Amino acid sequence: MSTKSLITAAMALGATTAFAEREREVSVTRASSHLATAGAPEYFTGSVKVQSRFQATSPARVGGGLMSFERAARTAWHAHPLGQTLIVTEGAGLVQHWGGAVQEIGPGDVVWIPPGVKHWHGATSESGMSHIAISESLDGKTVDWMEHVSDEQYGKNSGDVGG
Ligand code: MN
Repeated sequence: MSTKSLITAAMALGATTAFAEREREVSVTRASSHLATAGAPEYFTGSVKVQSRFQATSPARVGGGLMSFERAARTAWHAHPLGQTLIVTEGAGLVQHWGGAVQEIGPGDVVWIPPGVKHWHGATSESGMSHIAISESLDGKTVDWMEHVSDEQYGKNSGDVGG
């Protein structure tokens, strides 16, 4: 082997080693580098902000972010192919599955939404609410969006819990 090809081989090995090491390093994405994005009006009613989004790389498939709903803001009806966990961090919120009772949620509460269950979540009419949302993707998909939660559905729900 020539000196040149030895050097090339050594560099390739070095690059591979560096790559493998990066794969094994803890990565921190700084708060300052996360851009807060607004929830799209097709999928949300009212003002919703998403920040600190994360998506693990394959074979891991967990992803999510911190979602903040202003008062009366909520998701549209939707379902998650592998379910979703919500951890409420601030404020007062509501969650409901199709045909079920609305449930009030607050800081520290953990919500599990089973796979394929149609539901919505959001703030109460009195207070904003923030939660961390965590879900696993199935074939690259974490959510199936459906119709909006109407004011009538939301108002009735809020009334049910005395909001
Ligand atoms: Mn959900």
